Amino acid sequence: MAKLDKYNKKRYFKKTNEPKGVDKKGVKNIFVIQKHDASNLHYDLRLEIDGVLKSWAVPKGPSTDPSEKRLALPTEDHPIDYADFEGVIPEENYGAGKVIVWDTGSFENTTEKDGKKIDSIQAIDSGHITFKLTGKKLKGEYSLFRTNKGNNEKWLLVKMKDKYADARRNPISTEPESVLSDKTLDES
Ligand code: MN
Repeated sequence: MAKLDKYNKKRYFKKTNEPKGVDKKGVKNIFVIQKHDASNLHYDLRLEIDGVLKSWAVPKGPSTDPSEKRLALPTEDHPIDYADFEGVIPEENYGAGKVIVWDTGSFENTTEKDGKKIDSIQAIDSGHITFKLTGKKLKGEYSLFRTNKGNNEKWLLVKMKDKYADARRNPISTEPESVLSDKTLDES
């Protein structure tokens, strides 16, 4: 099965402005976090890995406090073109609701296993990936690790301790706007 089949099957492209799923060989290591006001508000964390955007829905959004563990539920791979998607997914479509790009930039995979660097795909397969973000709002290292496998797969997203860790900063509430349009979800 092609990596984006699941993405394409969930969408009827005559009725949504979201990009069609095309598998590209990307090399930019894009990361994006989209704030998505679907049936439940959440933040979609996406990392460009192996030609697609690997994706997790984070209900509470990312934190800059290393003591906060945020639930991250894996969702289907998205096309790289999705990284700058903002707009409204119309009613009756999968994920109907508004989307803004809450943060974006690049990431660097920093995962090590037994003292050796491993690539992003191996890291995700093994259930633990660490990566350094260079975004407009989020910077420094984060870790994602799997806590449940199978139908109920769950991961946790945690800020690692570095100079960008900050327990007092709360960008989810203090910086709600899009980094592309400066609009908040309500204004968009
Ligand atoms: Mn979503």
